[in-house]
Amino acid sequence: MSKQTFALIDRLAARRSLSLDEYRALLDERTPEAAAYLGELAVAQRQKVYGNAVYIRGLIEISNICKNDCLYCGIRRSNRQCDRYRLSPEQILECCREGHALGFRTFVMQGGEDAYFTDELLCDLLQRIKAEFPDCAVTLSLGERTTQSYTRLRQAGADRYLLRHETADAAHYALLHPDTMSHDNRMRCLRDLKALGYQVGCGFMVGSPRQTTAHLAKDLKFIEEFQPDMCGIGPFIPHKDTPFGGEVAGTLELTCYLLSIIRLIHPHILLPSTTALGTIDPHGREKGILAGANVVMPNLSPTSVRKKYTLYNNKATDGSESAQCKAALTERMAAIGYEVVTARGDVKRQA
Ligand code: SAH
Repeated sequence: MSKQTFALIDRLAARRSLSLDEYRALLDERTPEAAAYLGELAVAQRQKVYGNAVYIRGLIEISNICKNDCLYCGIRRSNRQCDRYRLSPEQILECCREGHALGFRTFVMQGGEDAYFTDELLCDLLQRIKAEFPDCAVTLSLGERTTQSYTRLRQAGADRYLLRHETADAAHYALLHPDTMSHDNRMRCLRDLKALGYQVGCGFMVGSPRQTTAHLAKDLKFIEEFQPDMCGIGPFIPHKDTPFGGEVAGTLELTCYLLSIIRLIHPHILLPSTTALGTIDPHGREKGILAGANVVMPNLSPTSVRKKYTLYNNKATDGSESAQCKAALTERMAAIGYEVVTARGDVKRQA
């Protein structure tokens, strides 16, 4: 029986594709031995494309004000306990300056869907960042916007966009989100972003409420077919002031297993070992890298707001300031044989 799992892993490595049933079997029949084998093949693939480089992205959490009410998220509109903030363009630029001096060459602006961040404001900010730091890539992670808005932001200089698809199953999507949001619109956004020439990241939470291996198989099939440049996955972690506050968190084990599978589907993909992974296990981020990830995203937000950007409880931190964060990460990666590099780290598409 576990022989079958090994055969599936070999087939995945050879063809970069499995059927839905096969993906599901690969998940259902997983064993520690299968995970070790999968991880080995994934690391070998990552090594071939990216060597032992780990790319860093400076994460700037620009606002925790959000019009949406996603049932899992700590900054959802209905959460009255959340202490709201937003950064000014000047504060964001200051984060970039600090980050640039530390060697960051990608800035990721992430936040809730906050109407303050109009196209006008963001385009102006993007142009200022690009003018001051022409050697840097700018990634946006600001949720669902109109086609026109994505167009304008791209023209103003945004290089990449992260928008997790959250789940490839429409019924499961409806369970995790309010009626005002739709799986169709999420997919529309992802298609738009790709058509506009962004490097695009999708992704999902591992162990979100009611998630089954059939759902995960669909996620993997979606990732296989959509061919994203980046993919963000991390364990779901309950936030006490949300409807899912009493649910159980996703596991390190399954997250790492999925990271390895995704690496084998797309050897060139940029795959972060997420903060959420670092939160459920003290060595989660290292374990993610050892399973096939190749990106980490230390926090560049002002320390005064870091605690307020709470998507889930007990968020991991690497140090009280950005420099400390970076130094700590560099050291931790070196300890497992990896080198944190300051290159922009664009996706290396294969011929
Ligand atoms: N508003 C932006 C950014 C969202 S926050 C957007 O919609 O894309 C980034 C990601 O954090 C989300 O896509 C979600 O997958 C993840 N997240 C939110 N709540 C979480 C939780 N409780 N546990 C783990 N991850 C969570």
